[in-house]
Amino acid sequence: GNQARLMAISNITNGSAMDVCTPKLMKDLWACDVFDFAKMEQSLSKNAFKAMKKTVQTGAPLEPATADVVAAAMKDWAHSKGAKFFSHIFYPMTNATAEKHDGFIITNSDGHAISEFTGSLLIKGEPDGSSFPNGSLRMTNAARGYTAWDPTSPAYIMHTPNGATLMIPSVFMSWTGEALDKKIPLLRSNSAMNTAAQKVLSLMGETEIATLNSSCGAEQEYFLVDENFAAARPDLLLAGRTLFGAAPAKGQQFDDHYFGAIPERVQVYMQDVENTLYRLGIPAKTHHNEVAPGQFEIAPYYEAANVAADHQQLLMTVLKITAKKHGFLCLLHEKPFAGVNGSGKHVNWSVGNSTQGNLLDPGCTPEKNLNFLLFCGAVIRGVHKYGPLLRAVIASAANDHRLGANEAPPAILSVYLGEQLEKVFMDIKDGNLKPTVNGGLMDLGLSQILHFERDPGDRNRTSPFAFTGNRFEFRAVGSSQSVSGPLVAMNTMLADSLDWIAEKLDAELSSGADQTTGVINVLKALMEEHGNAVFGGDGYATEWHEKAVSERGLKNIPTTADALPAFLEESVKELFSSTGVLTPVELESRYEVYSEQYILSIEVEANLVVDIATTSIYPAAMSYLSELTGSIAGASSIGIELDTSVAKKVATDANAMMAAVNKLSAALESHDFPSVEAHMQYCANDIRSLMDEVRLYADTLETQVSDELWPLPKYAEMLFIK
Ligand code: ADP
Ligand code: MG
Repeated sequence: GNQARLMAISNITNGSAMDVCTPKLMKDLWACDVFDFAKMEQSLSKNAFKAMKKTVQTGAPLEPATADVVAAAMKDWAHSKGAKFFSHIFYPMTNATAEKHDGFIITNSDGHAISEFTGSLLIKGEPDGSSFPNGSLRMTNAARGYTAWDPTSPAYIMHTPNGATLMIPSVFMSWTGEALDKKIPLLRSNSAMNTAAQKVLSLMGETEIATLNSSCGAEQEYFLVDENFAAARPDLLLAGRTLFGAAPAKGQQFDDHYFGAIPERVQVYMQDVENTLYRLGIPAKTHHNEVAPGQFEIAPYYEAANVAADHQQLLMTVLKITAKKHGFLCLLHEKPFAGVNGSGKHVNWSVGNSTQGNLLDPGCTPEKNLNFLLFCGAVIRGVHKYGPLLRAVIASAANDHRLGANEAPPAILSVYLGEQLEKVFMDIKDGNLKPTVNGGLMDLGLSQILHFERDPGDRNRTSPFAFTGNRFEFRAVGSSQSVSGPLVAMNTMLADSLDWIAEKLDAELSSGADQTTGVINVLKALMEEHGNAVFGGDGYATEWHEKAVSERGLKNIPTTADALPAFLEESVKELFSSTGVLTPVELESRYEVYSEQYILSIEVEANLVVDIATTSIYPAAMSYLSELTGSIAGASSIGIELDTSVAKKVATDANAMMAAVNKLSAALESHDFPSVEAHMQYCANDIRSLMDEVRLYADTLETQVSDELWPLPKYAEMLFIK
């Protein structure tokens, strides 16, 4: 009980930064644990290397013979780094990663141990998939999915205190070929986007068009809490967030005092994280700009989306493992502390190739601007048409505490373009921007307009989806989420919009319009239908929340229970099947898995609320009450009447808390729901509000019960003591 909390405080006061071995030179450190092109070139024959490179760059299949050669080289390299095991790492529909470790060692007929790693072992693995969520894609009794090597994401070494393992990024699918993971849809969405983009670019007269790929740079926020405190908070350990906790006393919560220098222990931790990430070839850049006390940010430089998504998962793992080493618990939860700024992940996204460059970068010439305007218009259409899908792919019980909870960003999907670009699109819509001369390319003045300064200070920070100079930034993504879901949604909606644009543009050009006129006409039609999603004002304003719905026809989708059914909508099914990204069955299985996870995480939290209130908080209140009543009775026996108001308040609040606990327990007994939707709504409304009710009384008790008796580390302690 309270002993744990008091011990935690004294342990921390005595804690100090650990030693991190001094980093080697950057050139020795960078990607030293990655089997990258440089290492392949050293160890593979010229032909094998060429084949591998082609596979990585274009997705061309690899000959089995080449796979054998690559596997052997990979094994030798892994051995030289001390690895005795290898593992296919894959990305199931949870936000976590999964691994199955195997030894390189096999015994030969003489009983001698030899090490073996063939192309087929590299290419295919067979995890026991029964415990990975799969919707109803596979019967659990026939649960045999398999993993397959993704050669486009480099293999690497993971070091642990007791060894090293060669990690092989992989896809995870059923024997019947259905995607059971987050990687396959991402790869498919990239190729759908490429196909559609090729059509548009050819219509725009581009003759040489390299394969297009999407890029992603994710900014990751997180909290650090000392492990001593975490150990005394079962809610932090089991739910990743505090289910109880009164706000710090007034004046304490955002005191400048706490913002000064980053405590040495944290700095050393960050250094250690960065060193590990550099070894893994992840271009990380730490930002020391915590918004809340105890909160930090790390943002790797952007990479190809598929690699960035794998690196993002790895980064989250490294943050957590390294925290343990330094005596911290790293919290990736979206809202670990009520009333304190939450954590998000800003997913910066763009699409491009080596011949046309970044298509979301407004170039300096009018012809580049036309491509840019088309791609940008395609994004606007996507956000408008598939706003509910974008909301659904970032929906989780944890992220609901940010979205729709009067905190950044709002649960209404709109797109921010910046003043100048918004004006360009509005002018196109209103017919104020049209070519005046016929034939040839003419300067619409766009290059000047679009060549605006990329001033980050000027950006609208309240938009969930913002254009930031040469990319879009999806800011409503949760800090613990995989970036794959959002990337899949963005790539796929872009593919759909580019297809739509290609069709319209083709019709314009065939009916004799010149290129500029054609583009402007298509964009005018696009803006008339979809311009309502463009919004440059304050996304937090109540006025916007009303107007967005009543005047713009956008949807305000506050909870996951409201958001996930978007996966079942006809238009979304059609989007995914027409682009070949997910079959209706694969899509539905995602709905099933995510709704199950939502229900489960709320029920786990609710049970914890019951447990902690009953076994920790109530006993503390009773101990204090008995101290008070003892003193009151004792004083009374010598003729002094003590004030009884505190004792009465503690008794009343303790009773009220237990009444709410009983209601919550009873509510958790309900099991008959007509549908998954109904069950989700029940969690979102009934269960969540009862949890809040218990917390309300518990947090009031925290402000009354003697500090010495209080069992749970308090907000001020966890957030400020480093
Ligand atoms: P801010 O905090 O101002 O939003 P940062 O520089 O911290 O900006 O992070 C921006 C992220 O966006 C980084 O990961 C960066 O590499 C990434 N990024 C920059 N340009 C692009 C681009 N064209 N496409 C995708 N991501 C990009
Ligand atoms: Mg940002």
